[in-house]
Amino acid sequence: MTNEQVWQAVLGEIEVSLSRANFVTWFKDTFIGSFENERLIICVPNAFVKKWLEEKYHKNILGAIESVTKQKIKEIIYKIELKRGGGTNFPLSRSESKSDDEPSFKNESPNNKNYSSSFVKSNEQTTNEITSNQSGNGNSTNRFGLNPRYVFENFVVGKGNELANAACQAVVNNLGKAYNPLFIYGGVGLGKTHLLQAIGNAVAKTTDKILYVTSEKFTNNYIQAVKTGKAKEFKNLYRNVDLLLVDDIQFMGGKDGTQEEFFHTFNELQQNDKQIVLTSDRPPKSMPAIEKRLISRFESGMVADVGKPDIETKIAILEKKSIEKGCPLDKDILNYVADHVQNNIRELEGALTKIIASHQFKGLTPTLKSVKEIMGDYISNIQTKSLTPKEIIDATAKFYNLTYKDLVGQSRKKELVWPRQTAIYLIREELNTSYPTIGAELGGRDHTTAMHSYNKIYQEVKEKGNEKIKQELESIRQLFSNAY
Ligand code: ADP
Ligand code: MG
Repeated sequence: MTNEQVWQAVLGEIEVSLSRANFVTWFKDTFIGSFENERLIICVPNAFVKKWLEEKYHKNILGAIESVTKQKIKEIIYKIELKRGGGTNFPLSRSESKSDDEPSFKNESPNNKNYSSSFVKSNEQTTNEITSNQSGNGNSTNRFGLNPRYVFENFVVGKGNELANAACQAVVNNLGKAYNPLFIYGGVGLGKTHLLQAIGNAVAKTTDKILYVTSEKFTNNYIQAVKTGKAKEFKNLYRNVDLLLVDDIQFMGGKDGTQEEFFHTFNELQQNDKQIVLTSDRPPKSMPAIEKRLISRFESGMVADVGKPDIETKIAILEKKSIEKGCPLDKDILNYVADHVQNNIRELEGALTKIIASHQFKGLTPTLKSVKEIMGDYISNIQTKSLTPKEIIDATAKFYNLTYKDLVGQSRKKELVWPRQTAIYLIREELNTSYPTIGAELGGRDHTTAMHSYNKIYQEVKEKGNEKIKQELESIRQLFSNAY
């Protein structure tokens, strides 16, 4: 086996145990530098990856190498070295390989990348006037429209968000240079906006040229600018920043004119090493209504996911927030609340606020018993409301930019087939509904159609392990699990 073959086999082993985003982020552009006398040098593209592999993935890598080569390894050294020739043998899964009709606008030769870690403050005149019209309304946002509470210092790092958090920190320390764009995705209420704004708040210490917008605001501003003959001012505004933060980019789906404008803004900024950070409720590949060329741009930097917090993280968040609110809670209370709020961190905060408020109102100190009483109502409100087939069909339609009517209607259009099958699969998986009932829910279809659809997706996901489809299903599940 050549080193190259060994490494491909090792990557194959590691890939199955990680999320796609993690895998791509940490193993792209890695290769074996040398392998002699049971000692191995693994080359990595930068210090950030080096540190991460050493600290987080060393065991996985060692295990995979030993299993592939069937020999004991004495030592692994991680070394920063860029691959000569620029070509990467990174195994992109079929669905993710880049389309060839995409001109690469950025010189991607690794040697041209500058990994300098110090951020040089721009000497250009500061442009307060650019951002002045972005000032937040009310006292909860600062002059950039950022919530001053959203900072790294009060962001609790745990299993679900450590990758995204580390990536955001790296972006702050190497603005425009480390990962550009940074694309953060994950379900509702898991901290995407918090992280995005934390970048803004940190960078605001070194430059004023920061813009934070939701994609809806970008869209509205653009339409307004075109209407009032101010398209040029609009371009100047967005193309003259050091940092552009766009929240919930998925809402740009289907807005073609806005996407066109955003594409040019994006290119201009990226070419000039100006940092772009985006958030979305799903990975780039799963945004059917966003143009292909934009999706390939979104994937050209780093893609990081935020997942649901584990119980330890939930407890840590509750502890921190209860102290911040001046009402520290006992361990058993923290445990109880963390255990009973399942979906996301926003709900966790909601439960805490409710507990503190109702105790303060009565002038009582929270005990496990009193908290259980309050939480009883709260939990039955958010969790026992049961999911219905209609909600699943709705969420699936929403995900594919279709309507409920499209999915239950009689049209046999090709583009409806897959979404319909997906809805059927999810109803069966989530609710264990019988096939005849599923058929009826989907506009009176035959039970064999329902069964066939279920089996089709089942094969892709459970037998072939199709990652792209798994992620789509996960994104749709997020939509209905947050619809309560
Ligand atoms: P998203 O944008 O993903 O929907 P947000 O960033 O709005 O979620 O987060 C929802 C709430 O939860 C916010 O108040 C945020 O401060 C809080 N939050 C999320 N993740 C964390 C975390 N890891 N540590 C502390 N607070 C968090
Ligand atoms: Mg958000």
